[in-house]
Amino acid sequence: MTCIFCSIARGETHSYIIYEDELNMVFLDIYPVSKGHLLVIPREHYESIHDTPYKLLARTWFLSSILGRIYRVEFDAPGVNIVTNSGGAAGQVIFHFHVHVIPRWGRYGGFWSGRHRLTEDEAREVIDMWRDKTGIIIDALNNI
Ligand code: AMP
Ligand code: ZN
Repeated sequence: MTCIFCSIARGETHSYIIYEDELNMVFLDIYPVSKGHLLVIPREHYESIHDTPYKLLARTWFLSSILGRIYRVEFDAPGVNIVTNSGGAAGQVIFHFHVHVIPRWGRYGGFWSGRHRLTEDEAREVIDMWRDKTGIIIDALNNI
Protein backbone atom coordinates (compact mmCIF):
# COMPACT_ATOMS: atom_id res chain seq x y z
CA MET A 1 0.00 0.00 0.00
CA THR A 2 1.39 3.42 -0.87
CA CYS A 3 0.59 6.35 1.37
CA ILE A 4 1.25 9.84 0.06
CA PHE A 5 1.92 11.27 3.54
CA CYS A 6 4.41 8.47 4.34
CA SER A 7 6.10 9.36 1.08
CA ILE A 8 6.17 13.05 2.13
CA ALA A 9 7.52 12.04 5.58
CA ARG A 10 10.34 10.10 3.88
CA GLY A 11 11.09 13.08 1.65
CA GLU A 12 10.25 11.12 -1.50
CA THR A 13 7.28 13.28 -2.45
CA HIS A 14 7.71 17.05 -2.52
CA SER A 15 5.97 19.17 0.07
CA TYR A 16 6.36 22.71 1.35
CA ILE A 17 7.69 22.04 4.83
CA ILE A 18 6.99 24.53 7.61
CA TYR A 19 8.45 22.55 10.50
CA GLU A 20 9.77 19.04 11.18
CA ASP A 21 11.35 17.04 13.96
CA GLU A 22 11.92 13.36 14.71
CA LEU A 23 8.22 12.70 15.39
CA ASN A 24 6.21 15.14 13.32
CA MET A 25 6.08 17.09 10.10
CA VAL A 26 4.15 20.23 9.20
CA PHE A 27 3.60 21.13 5.56
CA LEU A 28 1.25 23.12 3.37
CA ASP A 29 -2.01 21.65 2.17
CA ILE A 30 -1.96 21.67 -1.63
CA TYR A 31 -5.64 22.67 -1.70
CA PRO A 32 -5.70 25.31 1.05
CA VAL A 33 -8.96 26.88 2.17
CA SER A 34 -7.03 29.91 3.42
CA LYS A 35 -3.52 31.29 3.12
CA GLY A 36 -1.40 29.26 5.52
CA HIS A 37 -3.55 26.11 5.73
CA LEU A 38 -1.20 23.60 7.39
CA LEU A 39 -1.23 19.83 7.79
CA VAL A 40 0.40 18.31 10.86
CA ILE A 41 1.30 14.61 10.70
CA PRO A 42 3.17 12.05 12.75
CA ARG A 43 6.00 10.62 10.63
CA GLU A 44 4.83 7.13 11.48
CA HIS A 45 1.79 5.80 9.67
CA TYR A 46 -1.47 5.55 11.63
CA GLU A 47 -4.76 5.61 9.80
CA SER A 48 -6.56 8.19 11.92
CA ILE A 49 -6.60 9.93 15.28
CA HIS A 50 -8.16 6.78 16.72
CA ASP A 51 -5.31 4.48 15.70
CA THR A 52 -2.49 6.73 16.93
CA PRO A 53 -0.73 5.84 20.20
CA TYR A 54 -1.63 8.30 22.96
CA LYS A 55 1.81 9.85 23.43
CA LEU A 56 2.28 10.53 19.73
CA LEU A 57 -1.30 11.73 19.48
CA ALA A 58 -0.78 14.15 22.38
CA ARG A 59 2.41 15.46 20.84
CA THR A 60 0.81 15.89 17.38
CA TRP A 61 -2.23 17.61 18.82
CA PHE A 62 -0.15 19.87 21.06
CA LEU A 63 2.03 20.85 18.09
CA SER A 64 -1.14 21.67 16.14
CA SER A 65 -2.33 23.83 19.01
CA ILE A 66 1.01 25.66 19.16
CA LEU A 67 0.79 26.42 15.43
CA GLY A 68 -2.76 27.70 15.87
CA ARG A 69 -1.67 29.91 18.74
CA ILE A 70 1.17 31.34 16.66
CA TYR A 71 -1.38 32.25 13.98
CA ARG A 72 -3.57 33.98 16.61
CA VAL A 73 -0.84 35.66 18.66
CA GLU A 74 2.11 36.23 16.31
CA PHE A 75 0.26 36.70 13.03
CA ASP A 76 -2.90 38.31 14.47
CA ALA A 77 -5.27 35.92 12.71
CA PRO A 78 -8.77 36.67 14.01
CA GLY A 79 -9.59 32.95 14.04
CA VAL A 80 -8.21 29.48 13.46
CA ASN A 81 -9.71 26.02 12.93
CA ILE A 82 -7.84 22.97 14.22
CA VAL A 83 -9.56 19.84 12.97
CA THR A 84 -9.04 16.22 12.08
CA ASN A 85 -11.32 13.98 10.04
CA SER A 86 -11.71 10.36 11.08
CA GLY A 87 -13.32 8.08 8.50
CA GLY A 88 -14.51 8.58 4.94
CA ALA A 89 -17.97 9.49 6.25
CA ALA A 90 -16.34 12.46 7.98
CA GLY A 91 -14.56 13.54 4.80
CA GLN A 92 -11.21 11.83 5.45
CA VAL A 93 -9.49 11.30 2.11
CA ILE A 94 -5.91 10.57 3.16
CA PHE A 95 -5.78 7.72 5.63
CA HIS A 96 -2.64 8.80 7.45
CA PHE A 97 -3.53 10.73 10.60
CA HIS A 98 -3.27 14.48 10.04
CA VAL A 99 -4.53 17.64 11.67
CA HIS A 100 -5.64 20.64 9.63
CA VAL A 101 -4.58 24.01 11.06
CA ILE A 102 -6.53 26.66 9.14
CA PRO A 103 -6.01 30.33 9.93
CA ARG A 104 -8.98 32.60 9.22
CA TRP A 105 -8.09 36.07 8.05
CA GLY A 106 -11.48 37.65 7.50
CA ARG A 107 -15.20 37.02 7.41
CA TYR A 108 -16.06 33.33 7.78
CA GLY A 109 -17.72 32.09 4.61
CA GLY A 110 -18.17 28.41 5.50
CA PHE A 111 -15.66 25.74 6.36
CA TRP A 112 -14.34 24.80 2.89
CA SER A 113 -15.11 28.07 1.09
CA GLY A 114 -12.13 29.70 -0.55
CA ARG A 115 -10.50 26.37 -1.36
CA HIS A 116 -8.01 26.67 -4.23
CA ARG A 117 -4.91 25.06 -5.70
CA LEU A 118 -1.77 26.18 -3.86
CA THR A 119 0.45 28.31 -6.07
CA GLU A 120 4.23 28.48 -5.89
CA ASP A 121 4.04 32.18 -4.93
CA GLU A 122 1.59 31.54 -2.11
CA ALA A 123 3.70 28.65 -0.81
CA ARG A 124 6.83 30.83 -0.79
CA GLU A 125 4.97 33.60 1.08
CA VAL A 126 3.77 31.22 3.80
CA ILE A 127 7.20 29.61 4.13
CA ASP A 128 8.69 33.10 4.57
CA MET A 129 6.09 33.92 7.24
CA TRP A 130 7.10 30.86 9.23
CA ARG A 131 10.85 31.07 8.67
CA ASP A 132 11.73 32.59 12.03
CA LYS A 133 9.09 30.80 14.13
CA THR A 134 10.92 27.48 14.64
CA GLY A 135 12.38 28.63 17.97
CA ILE A 136 8.93 29.46 19.37
CA ILE A 137 7.64 26.04 18.31
CA ILE A 138 10.56 24.18 19.91
CA ASP A 139 10.31 26.21 23.14
CA ALA A 140 6.61 25.44 23.42
CA LEU A 141 7.14 21.71 22.70
CA ASN A 142 9.76 21.59 25.44
CA ASN A 143 7.13 22.83 27.90
CA ILE A 144 4.81 19.82 27.57
P1 AMP B 1 -8.68 14.91 4.70
O1 AMP B 1 -9.94 15.19 3.96
O2 AMP B 1 -8.76 15.34 6.15
O3 AMP B 1 -8.20 13.49 4.53
O4 AMP B 1 -7.62 15.90 4.08
C1 AMP B 1 -6.58 15.53 3.24
C2 AMP B 1 -5.92 16.80 2.84
O5 AMP B 1 -4.68 16.49 2.27
C3 AMP B 1 -6.71 17.62 1.81
O6 AMP B 1 -6.98 18.91 2.34
C4 AMP B 1 -5.78 17.66 0.59
O7 AMP B 1 -5.82 18.89 -0.09
C5 AMP B 1 -4.42 17.41 1.21
N1 AMP B 1 -3.44 16.76 0.34
C6 AMP B 1 -3.60 15.69 -0.45
N2 AMP B 1 -2.45 15.35 -1.05
C7 AMP B 1 -1.53 16.26 -0.62
C8 AMP B 1 -0.15 16.47 -0.91
N3 AMP B 1 0.53 15.67 -1.75
N4 AMP B 1 0.49 17.52 -0.31
C9 AMP B 1 -0.19 18.32 0.55
N5 AMP B 1 -1.50 18.17 0.84
C10 AMP B 1 -2.17 17.15 0.27
ZN1 ZN C 1 1.18 6.99 5.78
